[in-house]
Amino acid sequence: MMNTAQRLPVLMYHRVGEPDHKRDVYCIHPDRFAAHMRALNKNGYQAVSIEDFDAWRNGAKSLPQGAFVLTFDDGFTGVRDFAAPLLREMGWPATVFLVTGKLGGDSNWQVTVDEPMRPHPLMAQVQIRELIDHGFSLHSHSAQHHDLTKMDPAELLKDLLESREAITALSGRPATYLAYPYGRHDEKVRSLARQAGYVAAFTVESGFNRPEVDAFRIRRLDVFGTDTPAMLLRKIRLGSNDGRLTNLLRYYVQRLLETR
Ligand SMILES: [Zn+2]
Repeated sequence: MMNTAQRLPVLMYHRVGEPDHKRDVYCIHPDRFAAHMRALNKNGYQAVSIEDFDAWRNGAKSLPQGAFVLTFDDGFTGVRDFAAPLLREMGWPATVFLVTGKLGGDSNWQVTVDEPMRPHPLMAQVQIRELIDHGFSLHSHSAQHHDLTKMDPAELLKDLLESREAITALSGRPATYLAYPYGRHDEKVRSLARQAGYVAAFTVESGFNRPEVDAFRIRRLDVFGTDTPAMLLRKIRLGSNDGRLTNLLRYYVQRLLETR
């Protein structure tokens, strides 16, 4: 049992393509994305599907050490154009959280960071079907990419139901997982998500997940387009968005002190 995963990281990417500017952390260049995946592979990491993660969380399946879940928010076209061919070659599954009311359109929502993101094209149904053929899992990032905590309950429930039904119809498989837009959620959002038929939801709070994690507060690590492969490896080892070397050293010193 030594080699089975006790805690799982979930990685979160957004756009794959040409970054808008040097500090565009929510976009990763295809070459760097490939370098990330190769570095993970070389260091004993292995992507597992979100469905396997859920089975592991429920105690129905064990996963090997080094297992992690790969997710892409929003459904940008670069996921299909650049990430999918590489992942297929590696045999690695991944999940896209789709904004169902905007398929084939642009990401015309505000980013919460200081600089607004330029709109970029989102996959249409035909491209999404190709992803399904590539073995991707499709789940919900809501219908409109609103801050769910700011919606009135009836409107929110409608949005969540609509999105879940649209993806289920598109993929032919139940869309049971939700990624909160902007990572924003509260008691009301979590309870309505459950009511809308979701069984788990993904946040942007960092850390590892143990099987006893709150199903509606699954943690994810924010991987930036500016992260070098070494930075990514530190993030995934630490379960933290802070992959600076000093943080890694602090972590090892802490572990040494704990085991004395
Ligand atoms: Zn988003």
